[in-house]
Amino acid sequence: MKNLTIRNRFTNELPADPDETNEIRQVSKAVFSYVNPTKPSNPKLIHASEEVAEMIGISADEIQSEEFLNVFSGEEILPHTRPYAMCYAGHQFGNWAGQLGDGRAINLTEVEHDNQFFTLQLKGAGKTPYSRTADGLAVLRSSIREYLCAEAMYYLGIPTTRSLSLMLSGDEVLRDILYNGNPAYEKGAVVCRVAPSFIRFGSFEMLTARNELKNLKEFVEYNIKYYFPEIKGEPKEQYLQFFKTVANTTREMILHWQRVGFVHGVMNTDNMSIHGITIDYGPYGWLENYDPNWTPNTTDSQNRRYRFGNQPQIAQWNLYQLANALYPLINEAEPLEKILESFITEFDSDYKKMILSKLGLVTPIENDDEFIAYLESNLQLSETDMTIFYRNLNKFKKTDSPENALKSIEDAFYNPEEIKDTILDNWLLWFTDYLEHLNNETTSDEERNKLQNAVNPKYVLRNYMAQLAIDAADKGDYSLIAELYELLKKPYEEQPEKERWFAKRPDWARSKVGCSMLSCSS
Ligand code: AMP
Ligand code: MG
Repeated sequence: MKNLTIRNRFTNELPADPDETNEIRQVSKAVFSYVNPTKPSNPKLIHASEEVAEMIGISADEIQSEEFLNVFSGEEILPHTRPYAMCYAGHQFGNWAGQLGDGRAINLTEVEHDNQFFTLQLKGAGKTPYSRTADGLAVLRSSIREYLCAEAMYYLGIPTTRSLSLMLSGDEVLRDILYNGNPAYEKGAVVCRVAPSFIRFGSFEMLTARNELKNLKEFVEYNIKYYFPEIKGEPKEQYLQFFKTVANTTREMILHWQRVGFVHGVMNTDNMSIHGITIDYGPYGWLENYDPNWTPNTTDSQNRRYRFGNQPQIAQWNLYQLANALYPLINEAEPLEKILESFITEFDSDYKKMILSKLGLVTPIENDDEFIAYLESNLQLSETDMTIFYRNLNKFKKTDSPENALKSIEDAFYNPEEIKDTILDNWLLWFTDYLEHLNNETTSDEERNKLQNAVNPKYVLRNYMAQLAIDAADKGDYSLIAELYELLKKPYEEQPEKERWFAKRPDWARSKVGCSMLSCSS
């Protein structure tokens, strides 16, 4: 991989753990520990992204090389690099969890390409000092889900970590999927993911919780220097700007999630990136029938803290924790509180604009709150597929009747026989309003459809689609991974030969493990 330009800014400039043994421990006065990946017993490349490879300076030919296989499975360490695991802490499900750290992620190195910096990280390459009680490994099922979803999100235009490669390790991993006393062996896998950095809110929380304020200051300044170089001014002003930037990018990311129906599932502060990118794909899911109370994560099924409709509030809660972590450098609560308060007001106003754009409405309308609330209530009267509903709004003309408009989206109903009486009346009323708004627009139907198609994806990684790819891969057939990868590269385009993926969740997937029920076991 001759064009890989190695940079080691993180390890060169930040405090390292002097202990270099690979033993589970509490690590103080350091933000990372050097650790080598565990060698896999029989690595095999399942899929790699040529686009991501090129982005970091690896050619398509090199993907097939033995070096690629060895480096991105953990077998071999790149010259002039020293892999490391990061130390961070965090709040999990609302509770302080203390030190967490990269328990099964190992950063290989940073690279520079075309004036951009990337960190390359293996997930599932074995134990680190932060593995706590677990094994540091990842199973094929969760690795396929992470690999595909990160790329699907990228092509949807949503800030995210990227996926470079998906490998089988050749090792067996023991997992109890539903934590109900039925452990079984599964195939182990390693994903290499790529991001500007893998620094989390919890990275800052850790330093403050330990009262390591000198390291905190150094760490924040490191972040500003390399990831937010546009921030200038007095130190305090810079720290506030840094917080404001993270709040802004986080808000934009959540807005995208709400636009496409993505539910992260584990929005703990250790899973929140300072770059405002989607990170740590675990028990995530996609809304099928529109239900703001839905969460795919069975571990959270009681409280539903991380349900779809709660994601903006949780993002704000997480930002509070980041603000607390930065507070000792700023010593003034008010400017931080202001940023936190404006997070929700700005989110609400952006959210309205976003929903109106999904409806193809560009001119502001009166009573937009009521109009949107009415729609969202209707979507829940009878199970209605979110993706199909919004996409099929491109199927009628503004001169059509409410009855015809409703007919255009009827494919979205899981139980069409329920659309009668008051449910039918409610829908017709809403469509009457909607058509009136459309008729006040100057855009033609064609122009409107173009705008709508750019924000209402046709193809998303429905939970059952990932599961089908997993079931096939378990039997050694990786063709569906490749097919879905290609499909999801053009989520907004019509792909007539791929129409079978533009369909409601099949009945068998309604309550199947891996489709509607996922756990953190991965
Ligand atoms: P997550 O819920 O996946 O974000 O993980 C929370 C913490 O548990 C992080 O510190 C992870 O690195 C760690 N962790 C999760 N799974 C494993 C595993 N299989 N082995 C070691 N650590 C893990
Ligand atoms: Mg995590």
